[in-house]
Amino acid sequence: MIRLPDLTLDADTTTALRGYQQSVNAVADYPGRVEAAKSEFKKRNTATNATFRAVRAKLAEMCSGARRCAYCEDSVADEVEHIAPKSLFPELTFDWFNYVYACGPCNGPKSNRWEVLDHRGELVVIIRERDAVPEPPPPGTAVLVNPRSEHPERFLELDLRETFLFVPTLGLSRSDELRARRTLDILGLNRRDYLAEARRAAFDDYNRHLEAYVQRKAEAAPTDELARRASSIARRQHPTVWHEMRRQRDRYAHLRRLFGAAPEALTW
Ligand SMILES: [Zn+2]
Repeated sequence: MIRLPDLTLDADTTTALRGYQQSVNAVADYPGRVEAAKSEFKKRNTATNATFRAVRAKLAEMCSGARRCAYCEDSVADEVEHIAPKSLFPELTFDWFNYVYACGPCNGPKSNRWEVLDHRGELVVIIRERDAVPEPPPPGTAVLVNPRSEHPERFLELDLRETFLFVPTLGLSRSDELRARRTLDILGLNRRDYLAEARRAAFDDYNRHLEAYVQRKAEAAPTDELARRASSIARRQHPTVWHEMRRQRDRYAHLRRLFGAAPEALTW
């Protein structure tokens, strides 16, 4: 998971989302707003709704590779996912900054899970029983790392040596380390074996492409060919793997050599 680019919606789409949100906010009581959030979102988030076609198109621009999920970077992104669940935060149902494009295997288990750190920095897990009357969540700092507003790579590092699993970045504060661990758990980023396999395959793939780039550069290949090779690397899936190769290059002799020969690759 990496920080997603800041993209803006066009004015018409922004206005339409604001209108949908007002119809949720207009309901007087919180349980009613939760109900309205669900029903209004279901009604609007359809293939025939021009606003949501525009939302999906813009979210797709944020995705890596062939429209891959913002969380796992592996499966196809086909669900407009609320980072803060709409069933807890009905006031964020149509908030553009609360959306990412995600896949079913990430979005399904995440569902309504939400955790905060209270004012003492203690973890509060919010569980809403199925038949309970909804109550607003307690105040606190969101635990889930938000790829729209934060840099996930500040919290998480990928082990490129052996496991291809995420670990909390060294040197985090206690609360940030807790956020890193809980984010991994909520999104299941270390739980699915196929994700580690896919990251390992992406690592081999990035290495091969960078090696070929370095070789062609040494052979004085034409500039447009090198530019083509560079843009092909920048568009591949699992951008976190590429980010980690750059960040951890000094730990691996072969990466030190490749990035030493092509320092421009550090900016791709
Ligand atoms: Zn996913």
